Amino acid sequence: MNISLLGPPGSGKGTVAAKLHREFGFFHASAGQLLRREIQRGTQLGRKIRPIMERGDLVPHEFAVGVVRKAIKSRPKVVLDGFPRAIAQLRHMEDIRVDRVIMLSIPEREVVRRLAGRRVCALGHNYHLQFLPPKRKGFCDYDGTSLRQRADDHPVAIRERFRVYQRQTRPVIGHYRKKGLLLMVDASPAPEKVWKEVRKKVRSAIGG
Ligand code: AMP
Repeated sequence: MNISLLGPPGSGKGTVAAKLHREFGFFHASAGQLLRREIQRGTQLGRKIRPIMERGDLVPHEFAVGVVRKAIKSRPKVVLDGFPRAIAQLRHMEDIRVDRVIMLSIPEREVVRRLAGRRVCALGHNYHLQFLPPKRKGFCDYDGTSLRQRADDHPVAIRERFRVYQRQTRPVIGHYRKKGLLLMVDASPAPEKVWKEVRKKVRSAIGG
C-alpha cells in the first residue's frame, strides 16, 4: 500500500512521514528531499532545478516523477511525501500507485510561524527551534550533522510556495477526494496530537 501525504508548506508532512516510517515501516520518499539531494550532489539535474526550487516553484514534472520513481522502485509500502503535487504529474505516473491520500490542513498564518523556526540537517531530518528542538543545539539527533535553514524557507519563497500549493496542488486533492481516497487531518495542533490522528486513520485504512 502506498500513501501520498499532501498539504501546504509547513503542514508537517516530513515529520508525519518519518513517523509512518518508524511505526508502520513505510519507505519514506520525499520528493523535495530527493530533489534537494540532486542539488547537494551538484548533478546536471541539480544545477537545472536549483533556481526553480530556491524561488519556491515546482520543478518540471518529469524530473519530480523521475526521482520518485527511481527511489521507490520495488518498495512494497511507500509514503510519498509531497507527491504528486500537480494534475499534470498524474499523467506521468501511471505506474506509481496511490492507495490513500492524507491531507494535512492548516491555515496560512500558522505555516509562516512554523517555517520561520524550521531547521533541517544535511540528510533531511526536520526540527523546529520551539516545537521540536534537537537534543544538542544546532546538530541532528540522528546523524550529528549541523542544522541549517532551507534556502526556500524565506518569506518571499514561502509566499510563492503557498501560491503554488493553492493553484497546483489543491486540484490534486480534489481529484483524490472524488476517487474516495482522501483522509483529512487537522495539522494545526501540536505534532503529537496530529500524529495520533494520522495513526488512527492509517490503522483503520490498513485494517490494523
Ligand atoms: P518540500 O520539501 O516538499 O517542501 O519541497 C520543496 C520543493 O521541492 C518544492 O517547493 C518544489 O520546488 C520541489 N518539489 C517537491 N515536490 C515536488 C513535486 N511533486 N513536483 C515538483 N516539484 C516538487
